[in-house]
Amino acid sequence: LAKQEGRNTYRYHTDALSIAANERLVLETQLRQALSAGEFVLHYQPLIDARKGQVMGVEALVRWQPPDKAMVSPGKFIPIAEETGLIVPLGEWVLRTACAQGRAWMDAGFPPFVMAVNLSVRQFQSENLVELIRQVLEETKLPAVCLELELTESMFMEHAEQSIEILKTLKSLGVRLAIDDFGTGYSSLTYLKRFPIDKLKIDQSFVHGLAYDPNDREIAATIIAMARNLKLDVLAEGVESEQQLDILNQHGCDYYQGYLFHRPVPAQELEVWFRENKRNQSLQEILNTKNE
Ligand code: C2E
Ligand code: MG
Ligand code: MG
Ligand code: MG
Repeated sequence: LAKQEGRNTYRYHTDALSIAANERLVLETQLRQALSAGEFVLHYQPLIDARKGQVMGVEALVRWQPPDKAMVSPGKFIPIAEETGLIVPLGEWVLRTACAQGRAWMDAGFPPFVMAVNLSVRQFQSENLVELIRQVLEETKLPAVCLELELTESMFMEHAEQSIEILKTLKSLGVRLAIDDFGTGYSSLTYLKRFPIDKLKIDQSFVHGLAYDPNDREIAATIIAMARNLKLDVLAEGVESEQQLDILNQHGCDYYQGYLFHRPVPAQELEVWFRENKRNQSLQEILNTKNE
């Protein structure tokens, strides 16, 4: 019986594996077609400047909208795009589209603000990244200071020295550099000092527990203090409640992003919000009008 069970377990295992492999293959093919069919869209989420009480930028977040089907979130397809290399053309599309949108908003008379774009590991390691960014800025005429590239700690782990060189070259273009999901990687404090970065984005996992978990509160406070000492901007991701906002404010956090202020939405939808002149309103007014 034991042998029988063992065999069943084994068979179940291989079946599950091949199903997963097959699903991945199907998804990979679908993603490729989606890219050429133009089925990806960008949503934008405001980044709030607490001190000035206004929007300092937006983060571009990619979604897949297959025709007549539910929208697919990046958590579902970015890892596969990353594994298959499709992230390189997809990431290029994201960069170009986001920069063009940032420029369009400038041309429409909105005061210039930051357009934050996520980069993947593969993009960061690709040889023509710097050239691509230079090209896209030139094409779209977005001022370099208006582009903020979001990187993750894991990108710097393997080749620290090489990473510093890439970051320096990127910085020399005039763009801003942020570390996304900060606190979740194996960050060594020394790299923070040596890397030419502008901003730390505190990972939302620490923000979620702020109201009830003393550890999260300690971690958030430490990151904010450290950012201040290193003269870096610091933003808290995933702020959903006034309570979280209050705690972060007490610790001197500069910037916020989260459902409390605004969800990621298509450009046109955000534009309505901008046009209602929310951009130059105080933090309290932004909060008051968030559910309109
Ligand atoms: P991320 O860069 O850390 O982006 C923040 C994520 O948190 C977004 O999820 C956003 O919708 C979500 N979020 C914002 N405010 C709140 C909040 O108050 N509560 C909660 N629970 N979530 C909030 P999204 O759009 O699903 O993206 C997930 C991840 O996918 C991103 O995390 C990023 O790592 C990746 N991603 C998204 N777009 C791109 C892209 O164009 N290129 C690359 N390489 N990765 C991307
Ligand atoms: Mg991000
Ligand atoms: Mg993040
Ligand atoms: Mg995150």
